[in-house]
Amino acid sequence: MSLTPLSLAQLNAASAAEAVALLDGVYEHSPWIAERALAARPFRSLAHLKHALAQALAASSADEQIGLIRAHPELAGKAMVSKTLTAESTNEQRKAGLTDCSPEEFAQIQQLNADYNAKFGFPFILAVRGPRGLGLPKQEIIATFARRLHHHPSFELGEALRNIHRIAEIRLNDKFGVEPTLGNEVWDWQEQLSVHTDPGYAELGQLTVTYLTDAHRACAAQIAQGMRDCGFDSVHIDAVGNVVGRYEGATPDAKTLLTGSHYDTVRNGGKYDGRLGIFVPMACVRELKKQNRRLPFAFEVVGFAEEEGQRYKATFLGSGALIGHFNTAWLDQADADGITMREAMKHAGLREEDIPKIQRDPSKYLGFVEVHIEQGPVLTELDLPLGIVTSINGSVRYVGEVFGMASHAGTTPMDRRRDAAAAVAELILFAEQRAAKDGDSVATVGMLQVPNGSINVVPGNCKFSLDIRAPNNAQRDSLAADILAALKDICERRSVRYTLEETMRAAAAPSAPEWQARWEKAVDALGIPLFRMPSGAGHDAMKLHEVMPQAMLFVRGINSGISHNPLESSTNDDIQLSVEAFQLLLDNLAKETP
Ligand SMILES: [Zn+2]
Repeated sequence: MSLTPLSLAQLNAASAAEAVALLDGVYEHSPWIAERALAARPFRSLAHLKHALAQALAASSADEQIGLIRAHPELAGKAMVSKTLTAESTNEQRKAGLTDCSPEEFAQIQQLNADYNAKFGFPFILAVRGPRGLGLPKQEIIATFARRLHHHPSFELGEALRNIHRIAEIRLNDKFGVEPTLGNEVWDWQEQLSVHTDPGYAELGQLTVTYLTDAHRACAAQIAQGMRDCGFDSVHIDAVGNVVGRYEGATPDAKTLLTGSHYDTVRNGGKYDGRLGIFVPMACVRELKKQNRRLPFAFEVVGFAEEEGQRYKATFLGSGALIGHFNTAWLDQADADGITMREAMKHAGLREEDIPKIQRDPSKYLGFVEVHIEQGPVLTELDLPLGIVTSINGSVRYVGEVFGMASHAGTTPMDRRRDAAAAVAELILFAEQRAAKDGDSVATVGMLQVPNGSINVVPGNCKFSLDIRAPNNAQRDSLAADILAALKDICERRSVRYTLEETMRAAAAPSAPEWQARWEKAVDALGIPLFRMPSGAGHDAMKLHEVMPQAMLFVRGINSGISHNPLESSTNDDIQLSVEAFQLLLDNLAKETP
């Protein structure tokens, strides 16, 4: 490999043959991918080049995709032992410590290689340098290998291709001499914060940070210190435990741009959900401070104390308090150990009487923006690092029960049954098909139970939950109306009766067009194709939406975007792009502000 880094200008100016040669080795023994991606020249950025290569592969035939996967060596396999790997593969396998396996590890990997190949017909592909680029620990590689062996073949094919793209991304960074230093730092901050976890979970190596536990307060202290280190002008922990950092504008009367996300987690959750939206703007402030630069507006970053509603049923407590929605009835709620929220707050040194004072005056704010990990598979499947949120879905939830007739499974003929579970099953299939028709609605029966069911009894009753979400209220309501009508029909036809109770209804929060446009401008300037999508999950931005314009930016997660799960993660490269997008949004807003 050449020591002088390749430049985009050089790649854009090269003849087709030269350009393919310049990209040699990025995709293992497969120059055709580079050849086809060249149609997208001139490449506007490295992110654009990466996307063009991914698109070329996505558009290729199934045989070509399998061919590419098979062009890869086995992990710690024969080619490594006989030293016939490409230079790139040797480097990667060495970085992950695979060239230095114990005989037991080596035997374990050989067995996994054999089982995997027998099941899928292609070698196991893993970007062994990992999301941070430094190399995954050997044990994590082996655990991932074992886990992926259970995948469905079509899902695993996609996973193999995604790993190939990640391998290519790291190889391109090396070729272009690019290091995502801001992404690395933010990634490291996430890791450093994840050392704090609630008792009972720490022992299991799981991350759980619920409202006002010791781990939660340690997180707040660490975020506050991080903000001071970044050069915020003022940092404090407010009356509900939110960490608030302000970087003042050029003039004292300047309005404020508000951003932030939550630092609490679900039980056994991921390290990025919420926290990314605190650290990304912190990195922006650190860079501004380094240049001693002031914006024509103040910038306020809030680490919200509570969003997930885990210890107490008080979802969005942190962001809600900023808009005056702190419900004092919450204070009397007790957690699983009988500790009331009031006691927990007192123990944390928070003053109940100060809560009303943290309500913000919206007239002093420009708006609210939030960066959040996508928590879904869409960006991964489109090979896009960032997505523009158009709306936070509105939702409605129900719990219901169908009552039929419990009867003998052996003696009740099929045409004389009043099977409550079969009725709910029919409802589930209807909800699945009806929601899919909208394209961007979702409907889920997540809880399903036959109380006191027996293997030899036709289910006499069946309890279920129903969760319906859509990008706007009208779409949500029409979906809900159809599903409820289907429930009525199904029950009538089957001669069973039902009850249904609405337990929650939240309005959709469409992004403010001018703020969505600001994210779009920033993402476009990075050379990343724009992709607009609704947010299926609720976020702090939903609360701020009630008093000021808001818009969100999504960042792709790895492992198919899995979230509320320890496998949740994002790469240093994608985090780097999210920091750069936020910097561009700030720069552009500064230009707009008189
Ligand atoms: Zn979240």
